[in-house]
Amino acid sequence: MTKCKRCRERAEVQLRSHNTAFCRPCFIMFFERQVERAISRNQMLTRDDRILVAVSGGKDSLALWHVLAAQGYQTTGFHLSLGIGDYSAQSRAATEAFASARGLPLIVEDLETAEEDITIPTVVGLTRRQPCAACGKIKRHSFDRAAYEHGFNVLATGHNLDDEAARLMGNVLRWQCTQLAKQSPVLRPTHPKFATKIRPLYLRSEYETAVYAFFQGIPYVVDECPNSTGATQLTYKELLNRLEVQMPGTKQAFVKDFHRLAQPAFSTTADTPPNDCTECGMPSYGSICSFCSLVREVRIKKERTRASA
Ligand code: AMP
Ligand code: ZN
Repeated sequence: MTKCKRCRERAEVQLRSHNTAFCRPCFIMFFERQVERAISRNQMLTRDDRILVAVSGGKDSLALWHVLAAQGYQTTGFHLSLGIGDYSAQSRAATEAFASARGLPLIVEDLETAEEDITIPTVVGLTRRQPCAACGKIKRHSFDRAAYEHGFNVLATGHNLDDEAARLMGNVLRWQCTQLAKQSPVLRPTHPKFATKIRPLYLRSEYETAVYAFFQGIPYVVDECPNSTGATQLTYKELLNRLEVQMPGTKQAFVKDFHRLAQPAFSTTADTPPNDCTECGMPSYGSICSFCSLVREVRIKKERTRASA
């Protein structure tokens, strides 16, 4: 029988990357302490911050919201319903159930009832863009705008170690220096309309967040987004998992040491601060932001389809 490293009771979780094992209560304590440590080491939050937590209904963002709320931070959830059939309906339901069970405030936006028809299936069908790229663009814009319009100074997302390692691998393989400069667990605002962006779970593995959500009895959507099959990000994740089996701790070291040793070398290559988008007023690197240019493209394609019908 494997014993818990802290209390010597029977262990329920083995963390090979940390060469340790925990019983249920000790794992919960370990996980929460690690998140708090990431927050304090990177000076992510104070008790005065008004935090908008982007919650997808998956294990990571629900676990994050759970930890932040339990630790007494001022949090409001934000859920964007993407219009991806059953998957979106389940995601929204899981998020709403979590919020109402705890009496936590939640803002929901639905792309199906929004002014512009930019649900993910519509955008992908009309523009032939990669679903994950289009979706990421729409989500980033919605999170930024919601934080700004509702007066939140911090935006928290549930990106975990596996997400960070996969993103890092993608950025390194193509030497995306500007992206590497911006890959940080805390991004201070470069424009008055931006909130500080934080990723408190950046060193917690997908396995750890799943175990934590399970131990805390949080019902979450287990299914992956139906659009993500074949996504490059998943290929990187599979590759990293194979490395992890052979060499436990690889993901941790890759991400942690990037921030500690390599990231400072890239931060000088950060691009110039954004100005205001002439369409929506949100920060933008061109005269119109990439979200508004996507909306424009969808409108044009829709008109063309209508004209040729
Ligand atoms: P993903 O982009 O799906 O890897 O998700 C990364 C993080 O973005 C999640 O941990 C959430 O914090 C946030 N997120 C993803 N999808 C949504 C959504 N539909 N609504 C709100 N937040 C989301
Ligand atoms: Zn815009």
